Amino acid sequence: MVNQYEVVIGLEVHAELKTKSKIYCSCSTQFGGEPNTQCCPTCMGFPGTFPVLNEKVVEYALRAGLAMNCSIARQTKQDRKNYFYPDLPKGYQISQYDIPLCYEGYVEIPVDEGNKKIGIQQIHIEEDAGKLIHTEEGTFIDYNRSGVPLIEIVSKPDLSSPEEAKRYLETLRNILLYIGVSDCKMNEGSLRCDINLSVRKKGDPLYGERTEIKNMNSFSYALKAMEYEASRQIQALEKGEKIQRETRRWDEKNQCTFPMRKKEEAQDYRYFPEPDIPLICISKEQIQRIQKSLPELPHEKRQRWITDYHITPEEADVLIGYQKTGLFFEETIRHYSNAVIIANWILGEGFRFLTEEQKEQGEFPFTPIQFAELLQLVEEEIISNHIGKQVFEIMYKTGKSPSMIVEENQWKQISDTNQLQEIIDEVLQKNQKSVNDYITGKKVALKALMGQVMKVTKGKANPQKANKILKERLENKKRMDKNAKPMI
Ligand SMILES: [Zn+2]
Repeated sequence: MVNQYEVVIGLEVHAELKTKSKIYCSCSTQFGGEPNTQCCPTCMGFPGTFPVLNEKVVEYALRAGLAMNCSIARQTKQDRKNYFYPDLPKGYQISQYDIPLCYEGYVEIPVDEGNKKIGIQQIHIEEDAGKLIHTEEGTFIDYNRSGVPLIEIVSKPDLSSPEEAKRYLETLRNILLYIGVSDCKMNEGSLRCDINLSVRKKGDPLYGERTEIKNMNSFSYALKAMEYEASRQIQALEKGEKIQRETRRWDEKNQCTFPMRKKEEAQDYRYFPEPDIPLICISKEQIQRIQKSLPELPHEKRQRWITDYHITPEEADVLIGYQKTGLFFEETIRHYSNAVIIANWILGEGFRFLTEEQKEQGEFPFTPIQFAELLQLVEEEIISNHIGKQVFEIMYKTGKSPSMIVEENQWKQISDTNQLQEIIDEVLQKNQKSVNDYITGKKVALKALMGQVMKVTKGKANPQKANKILKERLENKKRMDKNAKPMI
């Protein structure tokens, strides 16, 4: 039954721009200040104040638009979106209505069959509202967030599964991070999305009625909400019910969506051009300058890492997702040539110690050069892989250089053949029973003897070499033993 349906999803993503000051006044946008310490008459909507558009907001929005392959409106304006809510003291939000700054773009998301283009209908600029804080004593309003600049990125309904939608969100987040226009911290509300979702029978040319799920601020909640909502709609249709056009909310506690209100239409907002802000004109030169200043974008980087460095798409995805850790990875490649090994160590050992926050910040307490030095020590078999991990841990905790740690702990691997032969002969002598076991065909005895070699050398014997010598010695004994038998 479910297979007869397809899901159609479009997302509206709000990203706070990380300009220093707000969109229409000079108040700080810093997150986490004492409530109502970062506001002024303008962003609190006092009568008689005038908004002045922050140029950086336009520049950042253009960066996002160009990174997402959009066309740019050469002349645009701001509009008032009228509605009442306590967190919006002016009674209207300054946004953009019919002429968005950026329009008709796309991003590419990785899917099983390669890449899929997801259309961007538009990106427009607008102001954020204040924040309501509900407590037992009542509801309070913090206007610090009021007037923080936002871009709203509206996708086309090109996403055909919750999984694809999640990929799209990750792609947008990475682009915004890499071009430096938003810090995309979902836990601080700087990236949020509204989901438009409908289902239809496969092959049906018409879209089904859609519902909107508001204000998701976590990728995993968004994924769960979409999965729930898709199956709810399919079940309703199967029962012969109609889907109501409405706004719903995700209830994390009960793991379901529930209706909030009937969906309002654009005309309900009585949009009209903002009379206090002049037209916004964008020159060709400005577009060219911004286009040129864009860095390598995350999907380009991802592809280059897979092609040139031969890391897997999964590894590339993780490293791209943590921008600064990815930077550490690339920096290390300049000092150690095997990128696959670097990626393995970062994603294995590194991620064992780093918290989520530190992964975001790529906060290793040592430099890429020191890290490369460790990998070199392992490659040259000066230390074993096993000891290498212990060195890594000490480097992580103390920031000391790997060679110093190896020196201090006398961890240099024993690779000298003569020295290993001596140690092994001694082990064989002391473990006659295991030797006899081996001669009579019990191969596991080799493992036990190897364990003894490692014990005696405190794990410092070069395992490959020691194993080879041990085997040779045992095979020798076996031959001698066979030859010896007829003589008895
Ligand atoms: Zn202000």
